[in-house]
Amino acid sequence: MTLLPLQQGLLIPNTWPVALERISFDGLFNTAGATMPWFAQIKGTSALLATCLTPWDAGYKADHPENGPYTHVHFYMNKSLGKMNYPRLFRYTLLQDASIASVAKHYRQDAEKEKKFKTLKAKARCFSQLDSLIGSMVVHTSIKTDIQPESRLYMHETPELSKVVKPFSHVTDYVKKLQQHRLEKVYVHLDGWAEPGYDNHHPDYNEPCEEAGGTQAMKEMVETIHGAGYLFGIHDQYRDYYLRAPSFTWEKAVVLEDGTHPEHAFWAGGRQTYLCSDFALDYVKRNFDLLRKKGIALDAAYLDVFTCNEADECFHEDHTVSRKEGYENRLACFDYLKEQDILSSSEDMNEWALPSLVFCHYEPYDFMLREPGAPKNGIPVPLFNLVYHDCAIIPWMMEKHEEEDYFLYALLNGGIPYLRRDGAYQNIDGSFDCQGLPFDEHLERCRIVSKLHEEVAMSEMTNFELLDQEGYKQRSSFDDGTVVTIDLKSGEYSIEKLDK
Ligand SMILES: [Zn+2]
Repeated sequence: MTLLPLQQGLLIPNTWPVALERISFDGLFNTAGATMPWFAQIKGTSALLATCLTPWDAGYKADHPENGPYTHVHFYMNKSLGKMNYPRLFRYTLLQDASIASVAKHYRQDAEKEKKFKTLKAKARCFSQLDSLIGSMVVHTSIKTDIQPESRLYMHETPELSKVVKPFSHVTDYVKKLQQHRLEKVYVHLDGWAEPGYDNHHPDYNEPCEEAGGTQAMKEMVETIHGAGYLFGIHDQYRDYYLRAPSFTWEKAVVLEDGTHPEHAFWAGGRQTYLCSDFALDYVKRNFDLLRKKGIALDAAYLDVFTCNEADECFHEDHTVSRKEGYENRLACFDYLKEQDILSSSEDMNEWALPSLVFCHYEPYDFMLREPGAPKNGIPVPLFNLVYHDCAIIPWMMEKHEEEDYFLYALLNGGIPYLRRDGAYQNIDGSFDCQGLPFDEHLERCRIVSKLHEEVAMSEMTNFELLDQEGYKQRSSFDDGTVVTIDLKSGEYSIEKLDK
């Protein structure tokens, strides 16, 4: 069987019936397609652990046809700024008495030696509010959407749905409702809070939505959130560079090897290119400074796509940037948040960002981003958490789909729950229509996940086992003695605390 670092982790048995589809970002390391730079194969009790020690311009490719009976996997290398200009290092480790967990644990030991490690305990010394995030329920909601006509998401038949504004008071009211339910720990993540709406005009994004009540209403909302003892964070973005942004200039855009600029109109803001990462930190500082002057106090900030998409190479002669430097430029943005004591978040968790990143939007199994019930590429296994559980806080989807209950995965992984998840775009990033549970029942499930997180947040996930052939029964263990067993078929679970 083969272990791949695709998002949270994937196991492909050699005879798995489903052919492996294209891996996101072509398996390029440091993206959501590879959250750690290694893969492994296990045969009987022997294993090969293959690690890339220079991951910035490398990735993995895997091939698994329908029913196997094999999976091929190998590294590949890209040029850096058009050249193979530095030594590439790979390490192959042969292991005996191997299991899924022992391979991941071997990698963890290497990661510790190589200083890729920073635990939440250590991060808590840098972020005064990290403890408040532990066991929090996540409320993800939005203020303003304005999809431009040339965007692929524009709804031509119902243009009125392309522009939606909700007042800041809708969040204020919701927070008051949560207080009535006696919720103690909540994190509010807000999309589309600035003019002219979600995914528009970045990086010129700092003026609270006028139509939603403007700065005054936003301040009141934040004060209500803080009054309840909850945390508040904004969605922000420093890669997508919109042509409609008032300060837009092609001079700061990424230049490709052939001298052109990347360009598309996938997202709400329409025509865009990418901002050269050399300029990202300047814009972060400017925007956060403006918010501070407006009196809007942030506990957290989410810098979109930094840990999901690959870093951009830029061939502009005045601001040439390699991918490796691109990741360093992104880290500098996270580090700035750290200096400001703002809890840092981005899309996925990724090893390269771990020293500076506290939490993320999610680190799901790859199947969770596809339609519920779609065939799986293999058995979902928590490889990232086996290595880094005690280093990051990861929110989990809580939907109860007909085919599967995601609540069970949230428990197995010892994460925090999404209490509310108003995805920015429907049918993208795992936001699919589903029959919601009654609020009280959903809240009760969130309470169970939160309570478990309070127990295990700072603990290493010490073991993971598949208890049946098909992978329906799974068990994870944490170093405080907590053992979580889930049955994805029956929907049953147990949480035990063993004496250490
Ligand atoms: Zn550049």
